[in-house]
Amino acid sequence: MKFSEVTGQEKIIERLRQAVTSQRVSHALMLAGPEGNGKLALALAFAQFVSCENRTDTDSCGICPSCSKYEKLIHPDLHFVYPVFKKSKTTDPVSEHFITEWRTMVHKTPWFSLSQWLSHIGVENEQGLIYASEAAEIIKKLNLKSYESDYKIMIIWLPEKMHNVTANKLLKMIEEPPEKTIFLLVSEEPDLILPTIMSRCQFIRVPAIEREALSAALSAKYDLPSLKADTIARSSRGNFVKAMNLVEQDDERVKNLSRFIGLMRLAYMRDVVALSDWVEEVAGAGREAQKRFLNFSLLQIRENLVMNISTGMPDILNMAPDEAEFAAKFNRFITPSNAPDIAGELTAAHYHISSNGNARIILFDLALKLARLLRAV
Ligand SMILES: [Zn+2]
Repeated sequence: MKFSEVTGQEKIIERLRQAVTSQRVSHALMLAGPEGNGKLALALAFAQFVSCENRTDTDSCGICPSCSKYEKLIHPDLHFVYPVFKKSKTTDPVSEHFITEWRTMVHKTPWFSLSQWLSHIGVENEQGLIYASEAAEIIKKLNLKSYESDYKIMIIWLPEKMHNVTANKLLKMIEEPPEKTIFLLVSEEPDLILPTIMSRCQFIRVPAIEREALSAALSAKYDLPSLKADTIARSSRGNFVKAMNLVEQDDERVKNLSRFIGLMRLAYMRDVVALSDWVEEVAGAGREAQKRFLNFSLLQIRENLVMNISTGMPDILNMAPDEAEFAAKFNRFITPSNAPDIAGELTAAHYHISSNGNARIILFDLALKLARLLRAV
């Protein structure tokens, strides 16, 4: 990863560049700050910059043999430590066991949260930790001679999750570092790290991403209109992870609204041929997406009913503008006499899909029942 690919954080990047160009690179550096601000991206770009064989004053080249191995996260002098979990009672977990998953995750985007990482490696209801067993692994890796670069670099993601045994070993390594070794600690909760480790690190506080930079990055990544990108950048408060979640949730909401409108229109018109096409499309979406669609539809039915029995637009409505636009025309079809049955059918479909029923049959049956209920006003 090059500095130019890091979203925002120009001041921090400048500081990191200067440390290298003036040859004042600390052997232990801590980048600390809130989730989603790009600390890990900065650490990766910095490590690549330090090791680049052909860097300019401002960035790594991205194409020399060192950079190309850094881009693939397979450089033999680049080491990672991160929270993992115990797959079985007998294994002593270390980061190396999860290196394939780690590379996939970081390649996709280095802006991710601990919970996203844990779910990526299949952890449910468990905490990720850097176990005591990692200590020996760290020592083994750093006692190796550097293979190809001047420096060996160890990036420790979330050192606050480190077992005390490992933290104490790490402290010794930081106090008497093997030659030409750089530790990059990337922390969200530096207060939880041993003060003795903290005091040995050069500390760089990385703030949340500037709103303009985040907005521009969202526009580019998702091809969003600038007003929408700006709104999301604002509500995610400089957290790129949160911003990406908001974009993806909104994508799904828009898709669900369009499916809901399609279903209601076609069911009302009793257009069985078009309903079959609708069923085909939704049946291909996957079980979890179907369940979320049915939940979304239930909420829309509720909002339309509230609109129907109220006068004007009451404050209790929770609709997005595009939902309200459809509801303005549609709410007269959802009344106290048919709403309970419609809600019942949606709930039943959700139950049957959760129980692994055939989605095509369940959804088509739902569509036919709605065709009857929507006219029973
Ligand atoms: Zn290079």
